[in-house]
Amino acid sequence: MATKTAYLIDMDGVIYREKNLIPGAADFVQALVMTGAPFLFLTNNSAPTPEDLAVRLKHLGIHDLSARHFYTSALNTADFLSETDPNCTTFVIGEGGILTALHERKIANDPIHPRYVVVGEGATSLEKLSKAHECLERGARLLATNPDNWCPVSHEATRPGAGATAAFLEASSGRRAYFLGKPNGYMFHRARRKLELAHGPADQVVMIGDTMETDIRGAFEAGMLSYLVLSGSTRMETLGDYVYQPTRVLQTVGDLTDEIKTGKVSDRLNSPMLTGFHSGKLGHRHQTDVFTLHKPRPRPAMTK
Ligand SMILES: [Mg+2]
Repeated sequence: MATKTAYLIDMDGVIYREKNLIPGAADFVQALVMTGAPFLFLTNNSAPTPEDLAVRLKHLGIHDLSARHFYTSALNTADFLSETDPNCTTFVIGEGGILTALHERKIANDPIHPRYVVVGEGATSLEKLSKAHECLERGARLLATNPDNWCPVSHEATRPGAGATAAFLEASSGRRAYFLGKPNGYMFHRARRKLELAHGPADQVVMIGDTMETDIRGAFEAGMLSYLVLSGSTRMETLGDYVYQPTRVLQTVGDLTDEIKTGKVSDRLNSPMLTGFHSGKLGHRHQTDVFTLHKPRPRPAMTK
């Protein structure tokens, strides 16, 4: 009997890059839809709603998708809170994706005495940060939808991510943030559960992504297979820097299309060509446990 494989698929750097579809991505998604393979897009971007993402892909030429095909770090954060603390309240720094997800799970907004400050992707103001800081000072716990310090907006440019906003509040309040989103195991376990509820159990789950620290690491730790594509943020020559390694390395998701159609493993395995994309940015992209060996940031003494 054929192996039943389910796919978790990262978006930025896998399906599109900036405003352009990655060659072969449309055929790849079409093959998944045609063959009825279980799949779910898994993104750390907490700004859009699943409906927004379906529309974004439609404009890029990928049709036949609806909100149920997407699982964002915003949905994961709302799932986490409704499972672990269903009657909690939150003060949110973020955009439509996280606000809608919390609203749908009936988690109330409380700007005075919330149980959690939730940091998501998107622009903020010093006024909002000050408000969040005051909530933390009154005892709120700090949660971030995802650990990304920066997010790519073009080949050369990035914008500050939720990890950077959380770092600001960690510094001002002395509290440590808890980061959901990839590579957090809770994101992978919830995504797998969502797939299984819709399609039944799979023999294997494959995570396809372009980032070692989030996609590949999270999949490895959750006991899934991991396919790295070189169409995004990772260059082949940097793979040696990582303790964990992907199960397979592919040029693009297009390398999997025939395999999904025929059910036979492609002969284009591990045959990457270099894509030329190079991010020369230094420093840690993600707020993960690279800092866990350090003590919490001590809060400076206040002068009255
Ligand atoms: Mg990516």
